[in-house]
Amino acid sequence: MTPPIRHLVLVLGDQLDGRASAFDEFDPAQDGIWMAEVREESTHVASSRIRTTLFLSAMRHHAQLLRERGWPLHYVRLDDPANTGSLAGELARAIRLLRPERLVMTAPGDWRVLRALRRAAAEAGLALELRDDRHFFCTVREFAQHARGRGTLRMENFYRQMRRQHRVLMEGEGEEGSEGHGPAGGRWNFDADNRQSFGADGPGIVPEPARFEPDQITQEVMALVDREFPRHPGNLDGFAWPVTREQALLALERFVEERLPCFGPWQDAIWPGQPWLWHAHISAAMNLKLIEPREVVARAERAWREGRVPLPSAEGFIRQVLGWREYVRGVYWTSMPGLLESNALNAQAPLPGFYWTGDTPMACLSDAIGQTLRLGYAHHIQRLMVTGLFALLLGVRPREVHEWYLAIYVDAVEWVELPNTAGMSQYADGGVITSKPYIASGKYIERMSAGQYCAQCRYRPGVSQGPEACPFTTLYWDFLLEHRERFANHQRIGAQVRNLSRLSQQQADAIRAQAAALRAELEQTGGYTP
Ligand code: FAD
Ligand code: SF4
Repeated sequence: MTPPIRHLVLVLGDQLDGRASAFDEFDPAQDGIWMAEVREESTHVASSRIRTTLFLSAMRHHAQLLRERGWPLHYVRLDDPANTGSLAGELARAIRLLRPERLVMTAPGDWRVLRALRRAAAEAGLALELRDDRHFFCTVREFAQHARGRGTLRMENFYRQMRRQHRVLMEGEGEEGSEGHGPAGGRWNFDADNRQSFGADGPGIVPEPARFEPDQITQEVMALVDREFPRHPGNLDGFAWPVTREQALLALERFVEERLPCFGPWQDAIWPGQPWLWHAHISAAMNLKLIEPREVVARAERAWREGRVPLPSAEGFIRQVLGWREYVRGVYWTSMPGLLESNALNAQAPLPGFYWTGDTPMACLSDAIGQTLRLGYAHHIQRLMVTGLFALLLGVRPREVHEWYLAIYVDAVEWVELPNTAGMSQYADGGVITSKPYIASGKYIERMSAGQYCAQCRYRPGVSQGPEACPFTTLYWDFLLEHRERFANHQRIGAQVRNLSRLSQQQADAIRAQAAALRAELEQTGGYTP
């Protein structure tokens, strides 16, 4: 029998950073590391094969690095015949084998995983020491402090606090507001310069993002994933995501040099057949902890200070990483587990089946879902204002929408996905994350794609009734009719509700009838599970 070890350091699939707090005082002579590939993490929602491949390949590359350091590693493969299939089961097995005195880990990102590991540790009678995740600018405790005493939380207030505290895009050292001191360029927010659509000429020539040919490890994982999860969504043919820190740094470099200058103005634009546009595609690498938000933010700020990136683009990008990403994590940990079951608008429709196939005559949805299945990626506005908007207007149960987003994107981890889905996109939290539901008619999609999607669609974005009616537009008016009392005096969308006065009773009745027929038709296709 092997002698017992002092600390068993637990490393999860989204904790692939050898400098993490879990390794403080790590002593390879007395301590060991545990990593496990388990089926449950790909099946509690039907994880896309692209997402599972990314996680497993990045884990195997990380394991290789730890072994090269000479650190003792207990690594369980997915196809190990003894694998119990769950993190809790595998941890229990490792505890019996290695007999550690204590379990140590960087705090997990997900509430579900933390609960399972805590239970497994308690059942084994062992202490589980959780250490702060230094990856983030803001700890969960600091965020709770920020939230305490505030009636409403707003990202903008939090973001400004982060900018001040971490001296990001700030000028001068003196008192804020005095000459030369304060936010760079004298403004916190460049939204007025950003958020444009491309115009009829389209995005022009967009540089190809860095893509990485699968090496032998990735190829083995791809074969394993195809074998183990043949019915799961996602296509592995074009898999080229960064799976190591070196690759992730290269992807960041290419983004900052080639696409960041145009990020700001066009971060909200959409265009048929153009999945990548001017975005960074580094969320998955950050969420797996291959790269740090600090280095991402510093790299973008440096490019602005060196005069190679306009301030609105640098600020627009940094706002996403230092602002939104940290903010949603804070909200997640202060709102769980309630957030998971939240449903403020009492939405009860099933998710339409076409979310798993892309097979719909709605050109904008077909393109956004098609590229998601092909690449595991869609950018923020496609998620919020195409797939998310349709689910919100249709009234899909938020839990089902959440499970789809968690399954389908390469960057999906619950702490960031759930607040974005339940909060920002579906308004299921009743207005904690954002002050208003993001609702719009098909005219918004028409505008943000300079009419390109609608020109190739069988529907017309300005029409709300009849055979040519755009389903987004029918459902938009139906949403306002359904929720008119709730939002009549709402500061930000009250004006949209008041526009209902433009409809005659006859038009309103026709819209409600058409929306009901659409729901009934789509309901027949719901309930699909891969
Ligand atoms: P860019 O547009 O280039 O933005 C740069 C970085 O900013 C991103 O890499 C990301 O880390 C961060 N960021 C941008 N927007 C947000 C945001 N709203 N919340 C948190 N971070 C943000 N992001 C995830 O990382 N994982 C998810 O599972 C996820 N699910 C989402 C679900 C819905 C319904 C919505 C509306 C958004 C979701 N997002 C999620 C946020 C955002 O859409 C993605 O981070 C972004 O599209 C990733 O692509 P990118 O790296 O090219 O981002
Ligand atoms: Fe989408 Fe409606 Fe435009 Fe068709 S008409 S592409 S469904 S917004």
